[in-house]
Amino acid sequence: MSNLFYQSGAKRPVLDHAQGVYMWDQQGNRYLDGSSGAMVCNIGHSNPNVLAAMRRQMEKSTFGYRLHFETEASEALANKLAELTPEGLNKVFFVSGGSEAVESAMKLARQYAIATDKPTRWKVISRSPSYHGCTLGALAVTGYSSLTAPFAPMMQEMPKIPAPRAYLDGLDPNDPKTGIHYADMLEAQILREGPETVLAFIIEPIGGASTGALVPPVGYMDRIRQICDQYGVVLIADEVMTGAGRTGTFLGCEHWGLRPDIVVMSKGLGAGYVPLGAVIADDKIVDAVMDKGGFAHGFTYAGNPLACAAGLAVLDEIASQNLCANATSTGDKLIARLHGLMQKHDVIGDVRGKGLLTAFEFMADRSTKAPLPPHLNAHQLFVDLAYARGLIVYSRRTRDGIAGDHILVCPPLIIDDTHIDEIITGLDATLTEFMT
Ligand code: PMP
Repeated sequence: MSNLFYQSGAKRPVLDHAQGVYMWDQQGNRYLDGSSGAMVCNIGHSNPNVLAAMRRQMEKSTFGYRLHFETEASEALANKLAELTPEGLNKVFFVSGGSEAVESAMKLARQYAIATDKPTRWKVISRSPSYHGCTLGALAVTGYSSLTAPFAPMMQEMPKIPAPRAYLDGLDPNDPKTGIHYADMLEAQILREGPETVLAFIIEPIGGASTGALVPPVGYMDRIRQICDQYGVVLIADEVMTGAGRTGTFLGCEHWGLRPDIVVMSKGLGAGYVPLGAVIADDKIVDAVMDKGGFAHGFTYAGNPLACAAGLAVLDEIASQNLCANATSTGDKLIARLHGLMQKHDVIGDVRGKGLLTAFEFMADRSTKAPLPPHLNAHQLFVDLAYARGLIVYSRRTRDGIAGDHILVCPPLIIDDTHIDEIITGLDATLTEFMT
C-alpha cells in the first residue's frame, strides 16, 4: 500500500528511467513523452550537460541560504534571464515553482503600489478561463471553476474578464477588431472596479492548461498594453508554461513584441531537473520597493545554487541546440499533421497552438462548437487510451474548467520528424479506438 496521495486515486506504473523524449516504467514499457511531463521537460530527459553541471555544483555546495550567501550560480542565472527577457526587466527573484512565482509577482506589485503611494490598489484582474497556480493567492486569480469551487469562497475572489476565445464566439482571430473587442473588456472592468483599486492584470500569453494552447487574436496584446499604461496597471505575464522556448520564442510575449512589467517563469526553466521559478521585474518596480525597505517576501529554497546551476545549464542547452527554432519548425509540422487528423476524425473540432504548445479540442458538433457531454470525461478517457499505447499527452477542460475537452500535445523541444510521425500515428490509432 502506498503512503502517497495525489489528486485522484488513479494508479500509474512506477517510473524507472528516462532519456531524451522517452520514459520507461519498471515493467520495461516505453512511453513517448508527448507532454514533456506537464510542459516541463523542454530539453528532454537526462541531458548529459545539465546532469554534469548539477554534479559540479553538488560537489561544491547544494544549499546556501539566500540571506547568508550570494552564490555564483544564482548571480549568473539572474544575469542570463535579464539578458533573455525584454529590455528594462533586469531584476530577478527566484522561487521554486510556478505558483510561488505568481504569488511573488502579485506581492511585488502590491508592495510597489504601496511604495509609490497608491495603497488603494490591490485588485488583480485576470481572465476566465485561466490557470495561474494552486496556492490560495494564485487560485484567487485563476478562472477555472473545477479548481476554485472546492475552496470557495476564495480568500479574496479577484475580478475576471473573459479570455479571448474568438473561435467560440464566431469571431475572426485575424481581424484586429476582434483583438480590440476582447482587450476593451479589460478597460470596462477597470472602470467598473474603479481604476484607483486596480493593481495588476495577469495573463497567460497563450493559454496553457486553461484554454488549450489558444493564441490571442491579432491586436489584443497591443491594446492590453495601452490600457494597462493608461490606467497605471501592472501587467504580469504568466510565462510559467509559455516561457523557455515552448512556443518558439524564449518568451511567449515576444510573438507580439509585448513588454510586460513583470514576467513569471518556471516549468521549462528547471525543465524537470530541479524545482525552479523566477520573477523577472521592471527595474523601476524593484527599485521603488527596495528604496522603501525591500521586498518583504521569500521562500526558504529560493535561489539555491543547485537549482540555479541546473537552470543555467538548461538555458545553455536551449541556446546551443537552437531549441526555439526547432520548436517553431517542428511545431508548424505538428500543427499541420494535427489538422490532417482533424480531417479524418470528426470529433476534433479545433486545432491550435504556437511552436510546441499545441492542442486539439473535441466537439460533439463542429458547426455549433458544442462540447462533448461532460459526464463522458472524454479528455481523461483519451489520455488513458493513448497512455496504454505508450504515448503521453496532457488534457484538461476547455470551457471554464467544467466542460469541453482539449488534449495538449507538447513534446520536448528536441523532437525531430520521426517523433512527430510517432506522435501522429499514436494519436490516430487512439482516436480510432476512442470513437469505437
Ligand atoms: N501558471 C501557469 C500558466 C501554469 O501552467 C502553471 C502550472 N500548470 C502554474 C502557473 C503553476 O505552476 P506550479 O504547478 O509549478 O505551481
